[in-house]
Amino acid sequence: MIDYTADDNELAAVVAHELSHNLLDHRAKLAVVKKGKIAAIRATEEEADRLSVWLMANAGYDPQAAIRFWQRYGKATGLGILSAPTHYRWKTRVHMLGEEIAAISLVTPKKGIRPPPLLKTAVSPK
Ligand SMILES: [Zn+2]
Repeated sequence: MIDYTADDNELAAVVAHELSHNLLDHRAKLAVVKKGKIAAIRATEEEADRLSVWLMANAGYDPQAAIRFWQRYGKATGLGILSAPTHYRWKTRVHMLGEEIAAISLVTPKKGIRPPPLLKTAVSPK
C-alpha cells in the first residue's frame, strides 16, 4: 500500500490511519468483542479514517491527500480490502473523509493544533 502512495502527503495518510488505530487502542478493544466482530472492525476502520485526517492536518500534511489516495486506491483495487465486509466501500470512506476534513476547518486551532474529537483525553496545548 505504501508503494502505491504518490507523495509524502499520501504516505502520511496511510501512516496516520495506522497510527490512529494505535492511538484509539483498537486492538485491545476488538480483543474483547464477542459478537458482531465484523461490525466492530468496520467501526474501528471508520474511526481510524476520521482521526487520520486530523493527525495529518495537525502535522502539516494536506488532509485532502487521504481522499486522493483512497479514491485512486479504491478505483484501482476494486475488489481489494476496501470492499471486504470489515471495511466500508471506498466511496463511503472518501465521503466520510470529506465530512471530517470539513469539520477540521470549523475548529479554531490552539497553538496550531486542532484537538481531534476522537481523542477526548488528548492533552491540548495551553
Ligand atoms: Zn485500518
